[in-house]
Amino acid sequence: MHTERLYYEDCYLREFTATVLSVGRDGAVELDRSAFYPESGGQAHDLGAIEGAAVGRVTEHDDRVLHFLAAPPGNGVPAKTVSPGETVHGAIDWERRFDLMQHHTGQHLLSAIAEDLYGWKTESVHMSAESATIELGAEEIGEASIERLEREVNRRIQENLPVRIATHASAEGIRLRKATERFGPLRVVSIADLDHSACGGAHVRATGEIGSLAIGRAERIRKNTRLEFACGMRAARLARRQSGWLREAAAVFQSSPDRIAELAAAQRDELAALSKRLRTLETQESKRAGGDARRALGATGNALCCAARRVPDAIGDAERAFAQGFCERAGAEPNRAILLTVALATGAFLLRASPEAGFDAKAWLLEAGPHLGAKGGGTPEMISGRMAKPEGLAPLIATLPFPLVELPSVATI
Ligand SMILES: [Zn+2]
Repeated sequence: MHTERLYYEDCYLREFTATVLSVGRDGAVELDRSAFYPESGGQAHDLGAIEGAAVGRVTEHDDRVLHFLAAPPGNGVPAKTVSPGETVHGAIDWERRFDLMQHHTGQHLLSAIAEDLYGWKTESVHMSAESATIELGAEEIGEASIERLEREVNRRIQENLPVRIATHASAEGIRLRKATERFGPLRVVSIADLDHSACGGAHVRATGEIGSLAIGRAERIRKNTRLEFACGMRAARLARRQSGWLREAAAVFQSSPDRIAELAAAQRDELAALSKRLRTLETQESKRAGGDARRALGATGNALCCAARRVPDAIGDAERAFAQGFCERAGAEPNRAILLTVALATGAFLLRASPEAGFDAKAWLLEAGPHLGAKGGGTPEMISGRMAKPEGLAPLIATLPFPLVELPSVATI
């Protein structure tokens, strides 16, 4: 048996009495009539109570509206049950319903005006108690168009145009904005002469009740644009929340909200410049530390200065700068130095040799590396790579044709 949908006749009906037809094994309560709007057509379902028990979900199945009583947290069993044949009192959460009606009617208006002004068709809509979005067939919507769209919608809201619902025998002869494939009687919702849409939803009586409509974020989705919007009290709450965020941000900048973007951009640029400067200083410091480490070894004259340096897990800019400082030490004539840096945790390595060291690093790696699972490459003066396993570092080091002096671990800044 189908459920008589009381909201079809009166969207403002908040309370009703009905007879329980059945209670499913899944707890679905079927009534002979209901003012509860089920989840459908992109609109969220109502909440409320039946015989004082909270209704957590309302769905539709064929012609039937099914009400699910909410289970309190814990054992998952509804606090109250109803039985077939029982007369029950139902009450819908009016604040939530009216908010959804405002958004639903607001969406009709927004869709109509977007199409009339720009030819953008509505591809899909989504409306819940938290957010409302509309996807328009436009690849890009600029700020000026959004502003105009919002202004036009609000102008129509202020005009308080009547929203009428009529049932027609068929779609024939009706100027619907979007053609319908439905056969038989058709429920058509009209906003003055602006829009005629086949729709089974709940709407306000006149556009003035939408209150206002504010368009939020615009997001490109494939070849469409999704617009967020809010109506009535929700728009006011959103505006209040957003102005709160702006005030908080302004307090951080010790400025006024209208200057936040400018100040944030200036600080971002300053931070980028400082980060760059810091990286330069860190590199210089690492290079200097490399030179100091070389000097501390005390190698003089023609002696080849060979050292190994162990670092924890990565060989980055600082380690490369250290090796450069070690091998490019000014004033050492002839400059004969080799530094091998190894990262114990990852098996990464870097070998740097000064031009007068008389050692071809690339040739060494080509010869010794493949057998030991080393991957990498470079030039005769600098190679870098990684062992298949960190344990492979020791055998690789053992193939170097000279002994290495161990540098203190991570002797950088
Ligand atoms: Zn509708």
